[in-house]
Amino acid sequence: KLVADRYHKREVLGEGTYGVVFKAIDTKTGKTVAIKKIRLGKYKEGVNFTALREIKILKELLDPNIIELIDAFPHKGNLHLVFEFMESDLEAVIRDRNIVLSLADIKSYLQMTLKGLAYCHKKWVLHRDMKPNNLLIGSDGQLKLADFGLARIFGSPDRKFTHQVFARWYRSPELLFGTKQYGSGVDVWAAACIFAELLLRRPFLQGTSDIDQLGKIFAAFGTPKPSQWPDMVYLPDYVEYQYVPAPPLRSLFPMASDDALDLLSKMFTYDPKRRISAQEALEHRYFTSVPAPTKPALLPRPA
Ligand code: ADP
Repeated sequence: KLVADRYHKREVLGEGTYGVVFKAIDTKTGKTVAIKKIRLGKYKEGVNFTALREIKILKELLDPNIIELIDAFPHKGNLHLVFEFMESDLEAVIRDRNIVLSLADIKSYLQMTLKGLAYCHKKWVLHRDMKPNNLLIGSDGQLKLADFGLARIFGSPDRKFTHQVFARWYRSPELLFGTKQYGSGVDVWAAACIFAELLLRRPFLQGTSDIDQLGKIFAAFGTPKPSQWPDMVYLPDYVEYQYVPAPPLRSLFPMASDDALDLLSKMFTYDPKRRISAQEALEHRYFTSVPAPTKPALLPRPA
């Protein structure tokens, strides 16, 4: 029995933010795919035109570092999104204690992440929900960003349906202050958190609530001064915080090179207008200084 006359359904892969994900074989290409079943819930009146238009845009995002959206169709009241199947993800790599990540490996993972981001930002598409388990790794070692644009189409992940609340750890200060006009900077901040996590091998800023998340950010980088981030005081949830000085970034990342620390600090800039863009980050000297990034096929992967 085929789904949509084309996909041979296999086992469930997991439960995600928007619904169940299952493995399937695409009889048209013979390839293994992952199908994300999206509960339409409040969108029951039919996936509205805006959503369909957005999905069309996602289908046109074709880049080596973006998961390809192969197909999208409604079936039994759920929207089905068909993606290329990926073996693993960056969270599994970071968590696997048997894996040693060299500075060259970390550079390679960050470079692939930023390439995918720069490509989408150039097309004015934001991710909005970057975290290590959304960075999938293929059998060839290529890292690809998953779930691009879904947060915008289907709304912020509904916590009721998920076990995971980790996305908070990757949230930028402007989102935590309730900004409504966020831009590509939110993805760069999240990429910086992932860069830090690759260096530390544990999530860098593990807030237990949105307020605590801001506290963790301020403890790491010092409380932002209005001179550093003039628009901050106008944000909806802005409140004045007690002054905290910034410890030297070096003390938090003793193993990082000077180039790595310089790039990290530019990605962790408070003012989203002054924060480095994904494209500028790719042009930072970190990526041309030694060691060269590891070739994807040679990257360590979970057994
Ligand atoms: P979340 O919303 O929590 O990020 P997802 O909905 O992306 O989770 O995915 C749920 C499960 O399906 C996860 O275990 C993930 O590893 C798996 N999965 C998602 N996309 C793919 C894919 N393209 N290939 C293989 N497995 C996938």
